Amino acid sequence: MPELPEVETIKNNLQEILPLRIKELELRREDILRCQDYALKELAGQSIEEASRRGKYLILAVNNGLFLVFHLGMSGRLYIQEEENTILEPHVHVIIHLDKRLKLLYQDARRFGGLWLLKDIDSFFSRLGKEPLSEEFCPPYLEQVLQGRQTAIKNLLLNQNLISGLGNIYADEALFMAGIRPDRQAASLSVREIEGLCCGIKEVLTKSIKYRGTTFRDYRDGKRQPGEFQNHLQVYGRFNQACPNCGQPLKRTRIGGRSSHYCEKCQH
Ligand SMILES: [Zn+2]
Repeated sequence: MPELPEVETIKNNLQEILPLRIKELELRREDILRCQDYALKELAGQSIEEASRRGKYLILAVNNGLFLVFHLGMSGRLYIQEEENTILEPHVHVIIHLDKRLKLLYQDARRFGGLWLLKDIDSFFSRLGKEPLSEEFCPPYLEQVLQGRQTAIKNLLLNQNLISGLGNIYADEALFMAGIRPDRQAASLSVREIEGLCCGIKEVLTKSIKYRGTTFRDYRDGKRQPGEFQNHLQVYGRFNQACPNCGQPLKRTRIGGRSSHYCEKCQH
């Protein structure tokens, strides 16, 4: 599932080639449109000026104040292709025909993602938690978030209304870096552990962006290339393999319905 580093990578790919003028937005499946504040024809002839990211959402800002917001769900891909290339891939639900002989494709086999056509993005994002790579995301903020919470720390890290952009992969990696078991009660973390976790979250996300995200199967960047951070993961997807710290076989357990990977010896 694309998380913060994957969406950030796609955003960077798109930002490099902007601005691009929209000729037409071709919607192949109506149900991929999650919200529509304006008519599709209002986009024709307008220019996409800026790509940005909020949590796991990718935002394209159009010059007349309209926004295209994508969420990639479990298996979504968003990538640029040359206009003359025939689309051979299945599950391409949205095609944005652009100038410079390009088109932007939204492909999503499992359809957990979608497209929002919005005028007011501030209210759309108002409930989303802080950005983990922002300065506002700091140990005192994390401490405030964890205070009095009886639930497992892993569950809290995945709550997008508290911290936006983290998913299963980077939550497991950050907890390993901080030496904290994923099933630890959130409120039981010491100030020192919270500092380590805050640091681990920022570090793993920054490093993954540098390697253009993690590809196990579905994820591709904005140029349709796989990421490379899967080669640098320490615990996620490495069940029964040696812990990079102590050499013991890594464990896997289910927390809140999600598989969690950790080292019994290095994480407490
Ligand atoms: Zn270990």
